[in-house]
Amino acid sequence: MKIPSALEKLSQVFPSKLYLVGGAVRDAVRGVETEDFDLASAATPDEIKESLKGGAFKVADSSPKLGTLIISGCGGRFEHTTFRTDSYPDGSGVHKPDSVVFTTDIELDCRRRDFRCNAIYYDVADRKIVDPLNGVYDTEHKILRTTRDAEEVFCEDGLRIMRLIRFVSVLGFTPDYATTSAAKKLVERLKDVSSERIRDELNKILQGENFLNAAELMCQTGVLKQILPELDENAVVVQPAAFHAYDALRHAFHSAAAAREDIKLAALLHDVGKAEAIKRDGNMHNHAEYGAVTAREITKRLKYPNAVIAQTETLVREHMYDINANAKRTKLRRFVAKNHAVIDKLIALVRADSVGTGVFSDCPRADRFQATLDEMTEEGTPFTPKQLKVNGDDMKKLGLKGEEIGKTLETLLDACVDGRLKNERGALLAAAERLAGGRTL
Ligand code: ATP
Ligand code: MG
Repeated sequence: MKIPSALEKLSQVFPSKLYLVGGAVRDAVRGVETEDFDLASAATPDEIKESLKGGAFKVADSSPKLGTLIISGCGGRFEHTTFRTDSYPDGSGVHKPDSVVFTTDIELDCRRRDFRCNAIYYDVADRKIVDPLNGVYDTEHKILRTTRDAEEVFCEDGLRIMRLIRFVSVLGFTPDYATTSAAKKLVERLKDVSSERIRDELNKILQGENFLNAAELMCQTGVLKQILPELDENAVVVQPAAFHAYDALRHAFHSAAAAREDIKLAALLHDVGKAEAIKRDGNMHNHAEYGAVTAREITKRLKYPNAVIAQTETLVREHMYDINANAKRTKLRRFVAKNHAVIDKLIALVRADSVGTGVFSDCPRADRFQATLDEMTEEGTPFTPKQLKVNGDDMKKLGLKGEEIGKTLETLLDACVDGRLKNERGALLAAAERLAGGRTL
């Protein structure tokens, strides 16, 4: 295993045998390099602080109650957690233990972890693996299996159910039967986990190469119903075979899997309004509108940043525009201008939506949006009044005042967007003069 030199130096001055653990070791066994080095040892935080005092490494408390320190120096930064056993409040799946007891027994430490593949230790000084639970076997065979009785593990901390789904998505591992059925039985423990943590895991799940397997596991275990009940309802929405190979929920999964990294969430939610549309109207005509409102509620609930909330809402609302790919050129240009801030993402979403049908491989609609955007960009078409080659001062010089100024700039902008006017100073000033004189463009 490749060990950073800072870690080697740290192990030489450390007060006890120092181990790497968690993702770094698991990934090394998989042949994947990592930059996130979690450390563990029998040394307590006080012992570590005392013995590293005045040396090349700095120590800062990260989570004092849990025995976690950040150790940095010699070009490295590591998180160290003292071997411990945890106890959790009864009847709650809250992520944080209410008390921890330090131990010198590596086997006890390994049992408090989530999955066996995450409980492999690497003795830094002796350069050898210590593997009390056969985590190497699980990693090599791509198995996700809890370190103890699966129900006990998930009962303590609901976040582990999200981590399970994440590891399926990112690592391509498969949980054993006991792990899956315990996740299903204890899925309500997710209620005790903060929205921020659920959101962070969902983001990682969406990015995984094996997202489709993870998504099925979310359905099977009831995780989807817990965290995205509005989306889960779409599992019963059947769709016309001419346009869709999948039901509305599977279509959302396939769209997200096909989507570019930065629009996966929007792709997952783009048709979330279908179930509601059928319930309310008996058809899907208004699903983009209903879905936009629901997408806002979901992203708000999961505490996404405001920019993500707004962007997701817009993408969902606009994803059906020009569904028959026959909008006139001017209309397309206006659409592109109105949505200029998200147009690149919208085009990517429309493409993912198409691939996600399982029926279409080309996407004339997205091609038309792209061609329109390219044409307007090449022409230097302004999308906002600020991008016009004239400004308010120019309008004042023409004798315009107050509201007239803004209105005239808007009229010039519309004319540029429609392709009736070029964004060139001379042309714009001449047009503005005509408008100021009470004439039309
Ligand atoms: P990655 O760093 O790739 O996201 P990781 O497995 O290293 O994955 P971390 O969150 O860095 O995950 O945690 C390090 C280790 O701590 C894990 O491998 C696992 O052994 C343990 N761990 C983390 N979170 C939990 C948890 N909620 N319950 C039990 N053990 C956990
Ligand atoms: Mg880690």
